[in-house]
Amino acid sequence: MAPITSDAQIDALAAELRRLDPALALVTTADGAELERLSRDFFNYSPVLVERFAGARAQLAVRATAVEQVRLVAGACARHGVPLTVRGAGTGNYGQCVPLAGGVVLDLTGLRRLRQLEPASGVIEVEAGAVMAAIDEQLAPQGRALRLVPSTWRSATIGGFIAGGAGGIGSLRWGFLRDPGNLLGLEVVTVEPEPRLLRLDAAASAPLNHAYGTNGILTALRLPTTEALAWQQLVVGFASWERALEAARSLPATALLLNGLTLLEAPIAQRSPWPAGCPAAAAGEHRLLLLAAPDALEPLPAWLAQRGGDLVWQAPQGTSRGLPLRELCWNHTTLHWRAQVSGWTYLQLLLPEPAAPCLEALRQRWGDDLLWHLEAVRQQGVTRLAALPLLRWQGEERLQELIDQARGLGAVLFNPHVITVEDGGLGVVDADQVAAKAAYDPAGLLNPGKLRGWPAAVR
Ligand SMILES: Cc1cc2nc3c(=O)[nH]c(=O)nc-3n(C[C@H](O)[C@H](O)[C@H](O)COP(=O)(O)OP(=O)(O)OC[C@H]3O[C@@H](n4cnc5c(N)ncnc54)[C@H](O)[C@@H]3O)c2cc1C
Repeated sequence: MAPITSDAQIDALAAELRRLDPALALVTTADGAELERLSRDFFNYSPVLVERFAGARAQLAVRATAVEQVRLVAGACARHGVPLTVRGAGTGNYGQCVPLAGGVVLDLTGLRRLRQLEPASGVIEVEAGAVMAAIDEQLAPQGRALRLVPSTWRSATIGGFIAGGAGGIGSLRWGFLRDPGNLLGLEVVTVEPEPRLLRLDAAASAPLNHAYGTNGILTALRLPTTEALAWQQLVVGFASWERALEAARSLPATALLLNGLTLLEAPIAQRSPWPAGCPAAAAGEHRLLLLAAPDALEPLPAWLAQRGGDLVWQAPQGTSRGLPLRELCWNHTTLHWRAQVSGWTYLQLLLPEPAAPCLEALRQRWGDDLLWHLEAVRQQGVTRLAALPLLRWQGEERLQELIDQARGLGAVLFNPHVITVEDGGLGVVDADQVAAKAAYDPAGLLNPGKLRGWPAAVR
């Protein structure tokens, strides 16, 4: 999708924004490198997306630090008919915040206040551009913490996580972001000549959850929190893949409290960076990474030993040096692998239950071209294994072959090589998401091209 906005339109828009609020920070084409940076995310994990997004770039970026500034920008874009793409920290993996049709990128990282923590319920109201680590830092003195965070907790924003993420650390307890109960409400700015500032309850917020910012600008979120625990990081080595897999499957069924469980096949474990003091993985050693509650520490070593696991390292989260285990899991595993080995990409699957037959069949067929990284998650109340396998890139046909085989074996695909909300999910149009776009972005200016159910991407 080529830019549809002329330079003259952008100049007029910028002039109006400067007049309305001289304090608004604008990034113009005069600062091409910064405009380029603000137009990209981590889509380079996918060779397909690299090609798809080539040349997609904003024509103007605006940094807002207050809700009123968001309204100014939304109103001006609506009046000038200019596409508007919202951006948090830009750590998404599918080009979610890449402005396919050019126009304006609105950076919300300046909108970062924790407005409220309700002491009795632990419910928070927080502005969308707040970085998740900073939110947790403010919650910790009250004994609270975010329930679910991505492995990009240190850099990503809460608004970007809700709009573009799926789950991560904590998904073993709390499921995925779209599960009812994980988002209690939203404050939203509409994109209209006179933008409205709306407060939506949980039900009305659901269609904006994981919609890539196509159907409303989130300015604040109401979220539940959980008790803050001193999670313990444990690294466990296994000589047998089958025994490691069995431990990964059965550990969440115990009464031991876990916040994360990652299983890395030996070749991945061997190339992974480890926290200071944790020995490197030996050849053939598969590794299980756990975030466990302090009261799980006593029984865990014996439980693991009975299943062929050898506890090789442990340290409380937040006290170890080097990378924490939190940054060795989810899509950080892919990041570390790709930093060392060129020509690899990845896939995202929810494995069928039991997972072993599907895994075994794919291991047989793909051998060293497909390496396994599993994450334990809770899905519709049941513990399941999700997978983010690393795949040697051999072209789109081979990728499709793998997708078809995995589906045939009962896995559910979340394809990270596509650009729309629907294609990255279950493949079907969500009528509520489209209805929310019609209500809050009637001219279809928000993040054009990313909601397949919206037929005229830009009207
Ligand atoms: C190394 C690595 C590890 C990762 N691990 C995980 C993981 O564990 N779990 C996971 O789910 N994801 C993961 N991701 C993807 C990404 O980091 C997360 O989804 C992150 O939460 C996105 O936040 P962000 O602030 O970077 O959002 P951005 O990338 O800036 O935006 C994401 C999407 O949200 C929209 N958006 C942003 N802010 C708003 C707003 N205020 N209103 C409306 N729309 C908005 C954008 O337009 C875009 O479509 C990982 C990525 C990398 C590179």
